Amino acid sequence: MKAKISQRLESLPPYLFVAIDEKKKAALARGADIISLGVGDPDLPTPPHIVAAGQKALAVPANHQYPFGAGLKTFRHAVAQWYKNRFNVVLDPDTEIHALIGSKDGLTHFPLAFVNPGDAVLIPEPAYPAYNSAVLLAGGVPHFIPLLEKNDFLPQLEAIPKEVLRKAKILYLNYPSNPLSAVAGRGFFEKVVAWARGYDFIVAHDAAYSEIYFGEPPVSFLSIPGAKEIGVEFHSCSKTYNMTGWRAAWVCGNAEVVKALGRLKDNYDSGVFQAVQEAAVAALSGPQDCVAEMRRIYKERRDVLVGGLRRLGWKVFEPPATFYVWVHVPEGYSSAKTVERLLDEAHIVATPGNGLGPSGEGYVRLALTVPVPRLREALSRIEKIKW
Ligand SMILES: *Cc1c(COP(=O)(O)O)cnc(C)c1O
Repeated sequence: MKAKISQRLESLPPYLFVAIDEKKKAALARGADIISLGVGDPDLPTPPHIVAAGQKALAVPANHQYPFGAGLKTFRHAVAQWYKNRFNVVLDPDTEIHALIGSKDGLTHFPLAFVNPGDAVLIPEPAYPAYNSAVLLAGGVPHFIPLLEKNDFLPQLEAIPKEVLRKAKILYLNYPSNPLSAVAGRGFFEKVVAWARGYDFIVAHDAAYSEIYFGEPPVSFLSIPGAKEIGVEFHSCSKTYNMTGWRAAWVCGNAEVVKALGRLKDNYDSGVFQAVQEAAVAALSGPQDCVAEMRRIYKERRDVLVGGLRRLGWKVFEPPATFYVWVHVPEGYSSAKTVERLLDEAHIVATPGNGLGPSGEGYVRLALTVPVPRLREALSRIEKIKW
């Protein structure tokens, strides 16, 4: 049999991080001492009290059955309390919160619940590649909005053609941003609420990095008056509690939107493993000093890498949030060529900016997911490359 792949699947670009991972594995197989600053996966372990809660819940037979639905009541209440404490946002645990198998689950299934063939979806770029793929799989038409340095990496809504805005069903946003590490303030979010009301689109704000900040804590989109009428926020334990493998996340906000995504998910999966939800409750309701400690570690790494690259003459943005550093490539180089030389000559894995959207050309993204001594080693290897 020859498996004929669907046009939908065929229409997708190769998933960037899979391709990068293959290159890395090939170099490892050649015996190279690779420093991976590529994929954004925390190297730090899940805090012990969260692991312990998960272990305890694993032994409970009731947790071995299908979880189904929006999630445990205790989980939804823990989310609501965490939102109240952190953002002063009030959420109804019964109608405004739904558990997700990682926020990628919700972000990627989202267009299937709202997009008809030919509908436009607004995607600022460079961005997490999953938004684009999700829109294509749902038969939607991505409309990319460039995120440029001169605009503080915020999308210029005025620049979107009116006919696109009128056909738009969803606007994806992601602040603090992967890969740009930019933070959005209240003023920008207020403008987004007004535009979403005016043109009748849903705002899907991906807030996965809200707890990784080095200055003022970022605000929740849902803390803006009127936001809950037009949008939802996606949140995850993955980055905040070093739980990427657990798949513990949620969507919250507009009750109708949350309900529709839940209805879609009922047809795809059977909920989040309850032991994982119990671990998430321990994470959200327990002591938060592990999060402060994580911020301290990333800040130290950030200062080492940003300071070191600047000493070598690289143009670097000092990230106010997230664990990524967005770096201008050397004069005369493309993103791809820079990444290739970093891998071949310094055995450093980096993400090419253009792989995350055309406006990322001329940049690379480096992830702060290795300890300080490895960052220093990376810097000394970069210093030896003759650009
Ligand atoms: C890591 C990341 C997430 C989190 O994904 P999970 O599925 O919750 O692990 C979401 N959005 C962005 C932009 C990310 O980088």
